[in-house]
Amino acid sequence: MAENPFFAPSSLPYRLPPFDEIREEHYLPAFERGMAEHLAEVEAIAGSDEPPTFDNTVAALERSGRILDRTAAVFFSVAASNTSDAIMEIEKRVSPELTRHADAIRLNRALWARIKRVTTDDPEEAWLLEKYREDFIRAGADLSEPEQERLRQLNEELSRLSTEFSQNLLKATTDSALVVEDAKELDGLDEATIRSLEQDGRYVLPLLNFTNQPALAQLTDRDVRRRLFELSVGRAPANFALAVRMATLRAERAALLGFPNHASYVVADQTAKTVEAVEEMLGQLVGPAVRNAEAEAEALAEQAGFPIEPWDWSFYAEKVRRARYDFDADAMRPYFELDRVIRDGVFEAATRLYGVTFAERPDLKGYHEDVRVFEVFDEDGSALGLFLLDPYARPNKRGGAWMNSLVGQSFLFGEKPVVMNNLNITKPAEGPTLLSYDEVNTAFHEFGHALHGLFSAVRFPRVSGTKVPRDFVEYPSQVNEMWVTWPEILANYARHHETGEPMPAELVEKLKAAEKFNQGFKTVEYLAATLLDWAWHKLEPGQEVADAEAFEQEALKAAGIAFPPVPPRYRTNYFMHIFAGGYSAGYYSYIWSEVLDAESVEWFKENGGLTRANGDHFRRELLSRGGSVDPLESFRAFRGREASIRPLLERRGLL
Ligand SMILES: [Zn+2]
Repeated sequence: MAENPFFAPSSLPYRLPPFDEIREEHYLPAFERGMAEHLAEVEAIAGSDEPPTFDNTVAALERSGRILDRTAAVFFSVAASNTSDAIMEIEKRVSPELTRHADAIRLNRALWARIKRVTTDDPEEAWLLEKYREDFIRAGADLSEPEQERLRQLNEELSRLSTEFSQNLLKATTDSALVVEDAKELDGLDEATIRSLEQDGRYVLPLLNFTNQPALAQLTDRDVRRRLFELSVGRAPANFALAVRMATLRAERAALLGFPNHASYVVADQTAKTVEAVEEMLGQLVGPAVRNAEAEAEALAEQAGFPIEPWDWSFYAEKVRRARYDFDADAMRPYFELDRVIRDGVFEAATRLYGVTFAERPDLKGYHEDVRVFEVFDEDGSALGLFLLDPYARPNKRGGAWMNSLVGQSFLFGEKPVVMNNLNITKPAEGPTLLSYDEVNTAFHEFGHALHGLFSAVRFPRVSGTKVPRDFVEYPSQVNEMWVTWPEILANYARHHETGEPMPAELVEKLKAAEKFNQGFKTVEYLAATLLDWAWHKLEPGQEVADAEAFEQEALKAAGIAFPPVPPRYRTNYFMHIFAGGYSAGYYSYIWSEVLDAESVEWFKENGGLTRANGDHFRRELLSRGGSVDPLESFRAFRGREASIRPLLERRGLL
């Protein structure tokens, strides 16, 4: 076992995990030794004879668990992006063990007693100490022995259910794929796409992880659209029962911890703080959003000549967009070649704002041949960190797009960040990878998270980079989307992949005009998912749900968001964010963060847009702080005042 690569720090640049040495059989022993070592370190801290100080208690905890951290960072990254039967087995086994492990630390009474006695005058230490206290109390440190025993059981079962939920879902993506025998049924898709779907003489269109499958905008056969839609909303039906069970257990756990429901428990340590604050905000949005969607539905029905069903929406929205704005989303694709979007768009915007530069390091490897590694430098040439990009969809990759961190920045360890972006772009059978406008947007969005990780300049790992409240974390990434259509940036990257011609200005103008259309749909599908999440997590302890689908319908109706042509972006059975993604009672975060985002976009525009000075200000006050200060304080330091909801309402056409 001496050769297990997780047992020692990586010797690669930036401590990039040595992916070419890591084998599946290394994970379990590394988890086991990692947990054992971590527990021994914690026991030593808890049992120390020395009087508790910040350094020998809180900082010592920050320094502990290094093998486990290294192992988990790699394992969960690979489990999400490049899984296998063996990895899924390991995941099933270690998830509840890791939950038990976390409980063994946070429910350690001697340790908790020590933490309570620590004092410090240093503001950064004081903030971290407060985080530790919150973490421990929220984990049940103050509960009685029998209560803690029940809590341990609840946590373990929840962790098992959540793994099961996500594994069911990954299987359903292929198991519930639309299969057609005759390519004619796929009429509307372009030929290259149809070719890439061919498997043994049939055509297999896999599901993406949200309700509204992109192909619905193109498929001309209404019945095929209906079948695709029904496969999408009906996938992984076994997950309904898991969801009910999870919501019930979460309600019981919230009660144990002294909260009326899981939502109250979750928001207490978020920037929102209370259920009422979230509901007040959502309440301002629901009515206007539904009215917008109703007006859009009328326009679509007029175009179609019949009432719109959910599987018709995108198809006719595309037609109306073309008729009304003379805009064809597909006409943009030839101008969005992946490599160019990344180098001359995503990276270039960061260079102009922050002075950072990028150099690809083909000598450094990820866990799959498609993963690319870039070294990132500050303006003065000093090394900042590594950025890994895994752009393509694979059958063994989770749906969606996300950022994750392989090595977190901290001055404590003198470590620089190694961060990753995962996208789910279909790899073409041949030729260049051409993106949709949405995919370009996603690339900028995820890179906004990456910058939050790369610019982190904090002492402690617990508050490094994107370790901020969930209802704050989407804010910097959303801000980064503003550069997608920023004229200098767009002109730089949006060039025809064959001719090199810049995207015609009129196409951009039309895009901007057309973007105002379909906002009702987008806001309603998002709000419906948010309110569904909310309903599941406002269950009272002991409240029974006999029929999950009926519960869904009731919840949407009660929230005033039930509008059948626009179903929720996620239904319960595939709502990964809330049942297996750490966003339970947290899906509101996207629109909550968007308030700050819309404010910040205004600030950039008021101050001259894409300039180094503006980038530096945003980086200094916000991106570099991680979670080491009160996030709303960093927002105020950046913006110069409190946030108002008006810019958001304006942007979404809700005023
Ligand atoms: Zn995001």
